[in-house]
Amino acid sequence: MRILVVEDEIRLASLLRRGLTEEAHAVDLAGDGEEALAWTDVGDYDAIVLDIMLPGIDGLEVCRRLRRDRVRTPILLLTARDSVGDRVAGLDAGADDYLVKPFAFAELAARLRALARRPPETYDPVLAAGEVRLDPASRRVWHGGDEIQLPNKEFRILEYLMRHPNRVLTRPMIAEHVWDYDFPNVTNVIDVHIRQLRRQLNDPYPGGLIETVRGAGYRLSAGS
Ligand code: CA
Repeated sequence: MRILVVEDEIRLASLLRRGLTEEAHAVDLAGDGEEALAWTDVGDYDAIVLDIMLPGIDGLEVCRRLRRDRVRTPILLLTARDSVGDRVAGLDAGADDYLVKPFAFAELAARLRALARRPPETYDPVLAAGEVRLDPASRRVWHGGDEIQLPNKEFRILEYLMRHPNRVLTRPMIAEHVWDYDFPNVTNVIDVHIRQLRRQLNDPYPGGLIETVRGAGYRLSAGS
């Protein structure tokens, strides 16, 4: 494999290069985000090891820009601490996996092998259904060419529906994912938010993007 390692800590960077070269990979090193983007502009990599904490453009931003430019190379993020926020931000930015420092080299090598085997299908971080597009990372929604401002709950309901197209999602499922807990009285509240959402998306009912499945819940119809 041809691998780009983006890491500003020189000791770790050269350690990774030596280890990966010994495993018969071709390795390029970048010391910051700008250099990483310059390399990926000219090189076709099979995997990128990307540290989050970099001088200048950080790893998350590098990741976002690559995905925006339709670069689908698997990205393994390196994070300094095991924080849920970092992991979520990393996956939202379009990374495929992450590793918390310090890590064993054998684990990094194994993760890279796993990423290389994975089919390139889910790398586009922007969700799309019909005329609607949603970017979880920047928390933006568009209908056709127009950006729509959605309140927080409506945004999270729509994101949840869009991550599970053509599937019936029950009100308790929606409650758990959007309110973070199972709150029985929330079902009426969900109906109200769905009505709001339809209105804001100019989504006709019935027969629009968000279907009501009688006695069950809601389903986002994203075609076949
Ligand atoms: Ca660093």
